This record gives sequence, structure tokens and C-alpha cells, in this order.
Amino acid sequence: MSRAFATVINQVRAQGLHGRVADYIPELAKADPDEFAIAATSVSGHTYQAGDSASRFTIQSISKAFTYALALQACGIDTVLRHVGVEPSGEAFNAISFDDRHRPANPLINAGAVVTTSLIPAATGDERFERIRAGLSEFAGRQLEADETVAASESATGDRNRALAMLARSHGMLGSTVDDAVEPYFRQCALLVDCSDLAVMGATLANHGENPITGQQVVSPTIAQQVLSLMSSCGMYDRSGQWLFEVGMPAKSGVGGGIVAVAPGEYGIGVYSPPLDEAGNSSRGVVALRTLAQEFGLHLFNHPDRPTSPIAGMVNDHSADTITLHLRGTIDFIAAEQVAYAAAEALHEAGRSMLLLDLADVTAITTVAGRLISDLCEDAGTARAWRVIVRDPARIMTS
Ligand code: GLN
Repeated sequence: MSRAFATVINQVRAQGLHGRVADYIPELAKADPDEFAIAATSVSGHTYQAGDSASRFTIQSISKAFTYALALQACGIDTVLRHVGVEPSGEAFNAISFDDRHRPANPLINAGAVVTTSLIPAATGDERFERIRAGLSEFAGRQLEADETVAASESATGDRNRALAMLARSHGMLGSTVDDAVEPYFRQCALLVDCSDLAVMGATLANHGENPITGQQVVSPTIAQQVLSLMSSCGMYDRSGQWLFEVGMPAKSGVGGGIVAVAPGEYGIGVYSPPLDEAGNSSRGVVALRTLAQEFGLHLFNHPDRPTSPIAGMVNDHSADTITLHLRGTIDFIAAEQVAYAAAEALHEAGRSMLLLDLADVTAITTVAGRLISDLCEDAGTARAWRVIVRDPARIMTS
């Protein structure tokens, strides 16, 4: 993987992409535009990296996805949904974006992010930031600290975010005072990370909310799924539709130049390159992830070719009046369907009355496939004149 990442870095560098380092937060203008890094962490906890992977940068808007997870965990989905929507806004990250129920369109644009931060239960802004810092550190598997100079620089110039918070408060959507929402928000955006921190944070979402390095269940599998859904539809601001179309991975970018992307069930990827495109997404980061998605087939809707048949072997035993099917691998709906039809045909042709399904070499059965196999057993007893016996030494059907 590291070698593939190094190749992508070289390829993308050679394209000489244009972009501008963010300077509306004055401190961010000091970033080195040449830095470029890619890291990935698998759900088994291994990390692969290339480029300037030791460089640290502020997490910025990438924090929004994780703070949303913390808000869901602390307040529950109903309360959070009363304050922030889940619709892509189609607008820029700092747009004045409220829906007909006066909610910001989603938590991944600034209006929604400030509201989300305000929902984290705390008596003061400092306490709120500390809860967020602690929560994001659990996602990263190490203690994150804010770059207070960047936070102060944003606070000094952050009137637009204050205005968004005031509007939200006037609509009754803010969970705190304006200051106790925006100050912790600026500091959450200023948390310092490197590419592999982003990879681990993404891998925690990929791994049903369990950090694959520390083993800690940071948020529930349902919350991890909800956050990934939002990242798929809203994570790249007003380029989210194009992103889903071309790249097809849940992702979240930040104006510090970072992007986190997730291959659900497999790994999290962190990319860092400070120059941004007009939408505020890392120019090289976007192209690097698009290249990786194409090379590794990571698009959510790219379904790999089906593996070989789930039937490893068939034994037709005349004396026991039985057909045995040895199954293997993961049995999903289509595999179970193949088994059901092959079994019916074989029993019919051989004139046997008993079917033995041997699951000893099966590694997993999806819920719907399990239902189909149970139906097969029941139907066999009633509608047809055979019996089905399932040999399941590892109890894979019931687990
Ligand atoms: N802290 C930044 C802001 O609120 C984050 C924006 C971003 O990364 N898109 O403007």
C-alpha cells in the first residue's frame, strides 16, 4: 500500500494542479503548499503511509463529522435532528443555509457544525471544547491538542461563523450562547493531526465505531453508519454530488488541506495537501483519492465480480439416499440462491429425498442468505418431499 501511495503522490504532483492555501484564517496561510501525504489504516489496525506523513496540520472541517458523532451519542438522534438536518445543501461551506424548519441543512457545513458543537452538553465553552477534544482523541487513538494560535486567529476573524451562530440562536436552534458555541468550534477546528491520525479516525468509522488500534468502542455501529451516510451525501460541500459520482467514498475535507475518506469495513484514508480548489477541498487530495478509488475499485457502487461458486463439492450418496453440498466462503443472498436452485435440481435429477448442506467451510452467512436457507429447509418439508439437514459445526447460521 505504501508503495502505491508513493506512486500516486508522484503522479498527482506531476499534474501541477493549481490551488490556493486558505488565508481567510490568517494563520493557515503559513502552511507549506508543497507538503503532500497519504496514509491508510485498516480495520485490523495496520497503517500504511507515504509522503510528508509526519507533518501536522489543523483538522478544520473534518472535525465536524466526528463532533456530529459525539452529539448523536450524547443527545440521541431525535434531539440532534430537531436542531440540524441531513440534507446536502448544494451550497458553499460557509453559506447561510437554514431549511423550512429553521435548521441548518446538515452538520457538515459551518451553520450546522456550530449548532452541533453547541449541542455537546457542557456548562461552559471550555468544558465543551474539552469534551470534544477528548472524544476526537478517542477516534484518533491518541491525545489531540489544539493549535491555540490558529484558534485565536480564526476567532479574531470569525465573524461570519458568529453571524451563523446568531441566526441559529434566533431560530432557537443553538444549544448554548453564541460564544460558548463558536469558541469551542474554533478550537475543535484547530486540533492538530497528521495523515495517519485521519486514517485511524476514518478506520474507526470503517470499523463500526471501534478504534482498530486501541480496541475502544468510541461510538455505536449505528452512529458510525449515520456519520458515514452524511459524509457520502454532504462531506465535500457543494462538490458532494460530483464526489459521490466520481469517487464514491464517504469523505470529509477541511480547509487545512486534509481529507478523510472511508472504505467501509476495510480502511480509513487520510490525505494532506494544503492548496485548495474553489470549493475549499484540497486540490491534490481530491485527485489522489479519485485515483486511489479507481485503482483499488473503492467506489461504493462498484461491486466486484462474483467469486467462484459457493458450492465446493457435491456428493451423491445412493445408499444414504442423500445429496451433500459442501459450501464455502461467504454466503450472501445470490450465493444462497445458487445453492437453493442447485440443490433442487440435483435432488430432482438424482431422485434423492435428503439434502445435507455442509457449512463447515463457510466463513459467514448474511442475514438475508440465512433466511433463504431457513426457508429452503421449511419449504422442503412442506411443499416438497425432501428433508434438509444443515451441518453447521461452527454455528455460523445462528451467530
Ligand atoms: N474553521 C473553518 C471555518 O469555520 C473550517 C472550514 C472548513 O474547513 N471548510 O471556516
